[in-house]
Amino acid sequence: MKVAYFHFDAGFLPLLPYARRVSGFDLYFRGPQSVKHLIESLGVPHTEIGPMAANGKSIGLDYIVHDGDQIQVQPEAPEVCQTEPRFVLDGHLGRLAAHLRMLGLDCLYRNDYNDPELAKASSSESRILLTRDRRLLMQKIITQGYLLRSLDPDEQLREVVWRYQLVQWIKPFQRCLRCNYPLADVRKDAILDRLEPLTKLYFDEFRICPACRHIYWKGSHYEKMQKVIEQIRAGG
Ligand SMILES: [Zn+2]
Repeated sequence: MKVAYFHFDAGFLPLLPYARRVSGFDLYFRGPQSVKHLIESLGVPHTEIGPMAANGKSIGLDYIVHDGDQIQVQPEAPEVCQTEPRFVLDGHLGRLAAHLRMLGLDCLYRNDYNDPELAKASSSESRILLTRDRRLLMQKIITQGYLLRSLDPDEQLREVVWRYQLVQWIKPFQRCLRCNYPLADVRKDAILDRLEPLTKLYFDEFRICPACRHIYWKGSHYEKMQKVIEQIRAGG
């Protein structure tokens, strides 16, 4: 039996097993084990792991832990994406998908995707996988993913905006909330027969989803969305 001393940054404590929620602890293990495997055995997916050191020297996920090592683990820092980030969300996150689409972000979401399909979409299309399922994020082919902490969609939105520094990418009124397709302008007279009397009276600017034909205008829903965006921009 070998033993290594693990020191996790405080940000990890909620993710660790209850008995391990202390600043440092000894971890006993057998055989050659990578630091990734040992940390994931504690329930922390590799997508959450940032800079690490063994005995003061920087290490990567593949590092083989030696008997007596002192391992320090930091969380992933908020990431400033160089290109517009794209997401894939697991089947329980429909409201978060709509929120992110509301901000104009490209979100692949279907409530019937299974785990291999989600993993494949993340890996082959370079999409950040958002989920509350730790086991899913532990799959080797997932290199970009985030474990949502909250159950509340509004709070989840704030988590994702912070983690991927999304404020610079916000482009509201650009994407269909139902199917993710980019919206197109549409002339009012072309859709007149589909509008309610009051909408017809008070609004002149419309957009349409070319895929599902849903019509969008800057009504009460849009105003609510603007408030959420203002809160996000203000860091609220
Ligand atoms: Zn649509």
